[in-house]
Amino acid sequence: MDRYSLITNKNAREIVLLKSYPCKWGRCAFCDYIDDNTSSLEDMLETNREVLKNITGEFGQLEVINSASVFELPDETLEEIKKIVVDKKIHTIYFEAYYNYKDRLDEIRSLFKGIKVVFKCGIETFDDYIRNKILKKGIVFKDALEVAEHFKSICLLVGFEGQTKESIMYDMKMLMRYFERGCINIYINNTTPIKRNEELIKWFKDEYGYLDQYENIEILWNNTDFGVGD
Ligand code: SF4
Repeated sequence: MDRYSLITNKNAREIVLLKSYPCKWGRCAFCDYIDDNTSSLEDMLETNREVLKNITGEFGQLEVINSASVFELPDETLEEIKKIVVDKKIHTIYFEAYYNYKDRLDEIRSLFKGIKVVFKCGIETFDDYIRNKILKKGIVFKDALEVAEHFKSICLLVGFEGQTKESIMYDMKMLMRYFERGCINIYINNTTPIKRNEELIKWFKDEYGYLDQYENIEILWNNTDFGVGD
């Protein structure tokens, strides 16, 4: 599995896919990448140390993903990241966090004091029924504004059975209106029962493919487009 890559087409940064403890939620109906989680601290530390060795700091920005939330990374790995960030003069770091960690984000901000920390949150959709009944995200909020109070960057999921054009239109509107950055993941079939909807994806490409040109929006047509994962 590729665990280190460079993103160069926009918002240039290095990206690492680290190993962590299991995602605390772990119940999203479309997610099988938690299979990369482990409970072996030794396994995590060994893998992460090797991956982190690749970081050069060349873009001043680093994204850290771990098939869970930053809070599931071991403390030792967080300390190693911090040391590298300081040594390599990295000014901005991106981490993933599950929405229900929203009240703990300051813990990471204080650990990385002096560094800009951006949290990416997998909201997937603002449609409550689709998010919680179909995707089983376990995330409740009043509206997009409430999400934006905690997260400047969100991930949305597009193109699965049960999703509607109307919900996607609304999601895109909320993304553009309230968030600084967005990552749109086009759904790829995996080992879960959630199925890709080709027709919806074709429609999305025709209607919203232009978003790919925006500096603050990334569309992952394939889930390995960032160069990590398998
Ligand atoms: S919160 Fe993220 S990592 Fe955890 S199960 Fe859901 S999609 Fe997977």
